Amino acid sequence: MNIILLGAPGAGKGTQAAIICDRLHIPTISTGNIIRAALKSGTEMGLKAKSYMDEGKLVPDEVVIGIIKERLAEDDCKNGFVLDGFPRTIPQAEALDSMGIQIDKVIDIEVSDEEIVGRLSGRRVCESCSDTYHVAHHPPQEEGKCDKCGGTLVQRKDDHPETVNDRLRVYHEQTEPLKGYYEKQGKLFEVKGEGDIGDITRLTLAAIEA
Ligand code: ADP
Ligand code: ZN
Repeated sequence: MNIILLGAPGAGKGTQAAIICDRLHIPTISTGNIIRAALKSGTEMGLKAKSYMDEGKLVPDEVVIGIIKERLAEDDCKNGFVLDGFPRTIPQAEALDSMGIQIDKVIDIEVSDEEIVGRLSGRRVCESCSDTYHVAHHPPQEEGKCDKCGGTLVQRKDDHPETVNDRLRVYHEQTEPLKGYYEKQGKLFEVKGEGDIGDITRLTLAAIEA
């Protein structure tokens, strides 16, 4: 099954992606993670993307479309995949269509702007393994230290409060129209992304089993 996860930054796409992958044994493809890895290893693409990312802007379509095209051609995507963070614009969705990639389901995780701002500004990530924490809702056992690997927890530059509002604006302007795009194709499933995590997960799994 080929699945897209839609939703604002911080809606919990990564968490739900991991659950779906576990259930269906298919990989998650996160353009954000691919770009951050490229940045870390200092590739040209990574360096080009950095300024956009740090400012909360979208990386140009042709760059992310190139990334996705390469990634989806890999062997592990043969039996399906979950896209987390792609497409984020109508042209990106059209690019998937013109690559001949069939999307089965699009799960939109709905979270209010107010909740998003709180989640992102409190988010901390492990420098080493990318595990995610929240200063209030999901603190590590030892402050500043990853429970899983002991790595240092840092705040992503684009999670700084002044950037979070820009990312939300970009989401509403450029990504939210994708809901209509996929609704017309009869592929859209809405999941309420606030409240008990178990309830959210049940809704996601119900959508993939529907
Ligand atoms: P979040 O969902 O928390 O915003 P991501 O890790 O998905 O974080 O993305 C972080 C940044 O990476 C985005 O703000 C953007 O600059 C860039 N990016 C990731 N995916 C895309 C995409 N499909 N199109 C354009 N830019 C992207
Ligand atoms: Zn870690």
